[in-house]
Amino acid sequence: MADRLEVARTSAEVLAACEKGEKLGCVGLVPTMGALHEGHLSLVREAKKHAPFVVASVFVNPTQFGPNEDFDNYPRDLAGDQAKLASAGCDLLFAPDASTMYPPGDQTRVRVAALAEHLCGPFRPGHFEGVATVVSKLLGLVRPSVAVFGRKDYQQLKVLERVATDLFLRVQILGAPIVREKDGLAMSSRNAYLTPADRERACALSAGLSAAWRKHAGGERSSEALVNAALAHVIQVADSIDYVSLVDADTLQPAVGSVGGRALVAVACRIGKTRLIDNVVLGEDADPRAGMDDAARAG
Ligand code: AMP
Repeated sequence: MADRLEVARTSAEVLAACEKGEKLGCVGLVPTMGALHEGHLSLVREAKKHAPFVVASVFVNPTQFGPNEDFDNYPRDLAGDQAKLASAGCDLLFAPDASTMYPPGDQTRVRVAALAEHLCGPFRPGHFEGVATVVSKLLGLVRPSVAVFGRKDYQQLKVLERVATDLFLRVQILGAPIVREKDGLAMSSRNAYLTPADRERACALSAGLSAAWRKHAGGERSSEALVNAALAHVIQVADSIDYVSLVDADTLQPAVGSVGGRALVAVACRIGKTRLIDNVVLGEDADPRAGMDDAARAG
């Protein structure tokens, strides 16, 4: 029932609720920043497969936003989130305020080195440190056996896998597939910023990734040719491009020459004022525009 979802606001409340959850078997965690959509809810459903008691957190984490980013304007809709989480089978909503997550005296930060250095790293200084820190705090509070993250934020997923391994955390980090709109656009809370014209242009990201995917499926292995296939779409519509890159899907180091194993094509660009990201793992993921007809896929 939408209005029956329990809400914890403080660390004492979430600790008490999670102790009850542990007695049911184990706890799953889905960290989010709210303004939830079907992509987030797919993570809750995935977590439910692994844990009888699933906690979703909604916290717009100030430490992962740069000074000129959209922290103040980030969409917030806690009542709507609560109803959506209840309908997805979530057991607890943890909605702390900043003073719960960063109480007076707080001074510990978690920083991952090489994995955070490429792709979004140079364009969002401090971002992954903020993410790694807040997720470490959430893992400490909730003590889940499993935590589920979307592959939409592929670099974030890799950074958090590293944190869990390096800090010997007793949690399984799971990555879940990207959920897309019918026209291929990856769902994102930030899509709410797009004007109708921006929204149409935003399809270029998945169209570009699909073009690279199809070239790769057709046998192309030159990293330059694969990047150019994606770039050709993005460059036509983006107001600025942070990167269109091909990297090793595990190390996130740039792939040069010929693509061998798992390779990630990742895009970050601005459509209007909105920064959008998207990606595909070649040779592993489905075509980001699978199910669309040929003309639509080609964008
Ligand atoms: P956010 O609220 O943007 O911080 O995202 C919270 C979690 O939801 C992260 O693990 C994201 O990767 C994941 N997520 C966001 N959008 C999608 C999507 N379209 N498909 C799958 N997961 C997503």
